[in-house]
Amino acid sequence: MLLESKLPDIGITIFTIMSKLASDTGAINLSQGFPDFEVDPRLIELVNKHMSAGRNQYAPMQGVASLRQALAEKTKKLYGATIDPDTQITVTSGATEALFSAITAVVQPRQQVLVIEPAFDSYVPAILLNQGEPVFVKLTWPGYKIDWDRVIDSITPKTRAIILNSPHNPTGTVLADEDIDALKMLVERNDLIIISDEVYEHIIFDTMIHHSMLRYPELAARSMVISSFGKTYHTTGWKIGYCIAPPELTVEFQKVHQFLTFSANTPIQHAYADIMQHEELYLKLGAFYQEKRDLFLDLLSTSRFKPLDCKGTYFIMLDYSEISREPDTEFARRMTRQYGVAAIPPSVFYHDDTDNSVLRFCFAKKDKTLEKAARKLCAI
Ligand code: PMP
Ligand code: GLN
Repeated sequence: MLLESKLPDIGITIFTIMSKLASDTGAINLSQGFPDFEVDPRLIELVNKHMSAGRNQYAPMQGVASLRQALAEKTKKLYGATIDPDTQITVTSGATEALFSAITAVVQPRQQVLVIEPAFDSYVPAILLNQGEPVFVKLTWPGYKIDWDRVIDSITPKTRAIILNSPHNPTGTVLADEDIDALKMLVERNDLIIISDEVYEHIIFDTMIHHSMLRYPELAARSMVISSFGKTYHTTGWKIGYCIAPPELTVEFQKVHQFLTFSANTPIQHAYADIMQHEELYLKLGAFYQEKRDLFLDLLSTSRFKPLDCKGTYFIMLDYSEISREPDTEFARRMTRQYGVAAIPPSVFYHDDTDNSVLRFCFAKKDKTLEKAARKLCAI
């Protein structure tokens, strides 16, 4: 059989590779981003309740009404945006599906999409499968800031969209006021659509605020804002996310979504709608993870790793240049096998394998796990 790959340069994701290596070698897995602690028991009970009550058939294509209503209320309260739950919200099978549907809905063949690197690994394959062209702009080093002059220089008549991600995976940086000012000018002048990946919206530290596109009416009017319940409720395996967009973009988004998955898991949507009434669960999430970040930093203070600034997400970058000159992919593998801690080499998030001798560590772990991992890292 003659088979021509549609993604000839894409392999198995680094998350799958490093999690498997961690499990094969018995290493502590700080690579793929997921918590190792339990879900709020109330949420488990709610899922059971809705399953037992017979809510086990297809959800509406747009998502369960009570969940869309709860999302609209939360968006109003947190970001001041008035969102119509019937025409502007779609519940998806994780943010990954929402990103794929958003990109597929708006990118035509040969159109260009600005991708800020290092970039979460699902963006580029989605652009390529739609015969779009990713145009890469690197975050500055060190500091990982968006160089807006370089973004402007990368614009052509074919540029259709920009993908943003704040708080940012893998660097842990967040957008600031001056980024929003630059973005407003850029998108209006060039009539761009913004695909805004905000899955870590509640995991933000040190009095920073989350600059959701939904806070700014002129940006919200051209944005598809994507988030995920997996990060907020410690349920990455449940795979429910959503997209908030203006009605005309939502129509196009749903044309894709309805034939990609049609709808997302019904009882879990009902359970999230109920648990969202407990606002403290998401309002206190930043403080919860800030404590973990600070504990991990404190435990590593005597190590030879140099931490980079981390203002959000549950990832922190550690510079290992005092320890080794190996490429990050090799050092990550050796560290897993030899020292028993797995991390992600961020060069895989660049199209040209940019390697700054840093690794990404996930600190969404029990304190005991972080203590054990830090002991091993301090011994390197
Ligand atoms: N975007 C970013 C930046 C992520 O880190 C993740 C997490 N895995 C996703 C999207 C995908 O989210 P989900 O697990 O809900 O598909
Ligand atoms: N978002 C998670 C991470 O960055 C994992 C996503 C995945 O495994 N696809 O580690």
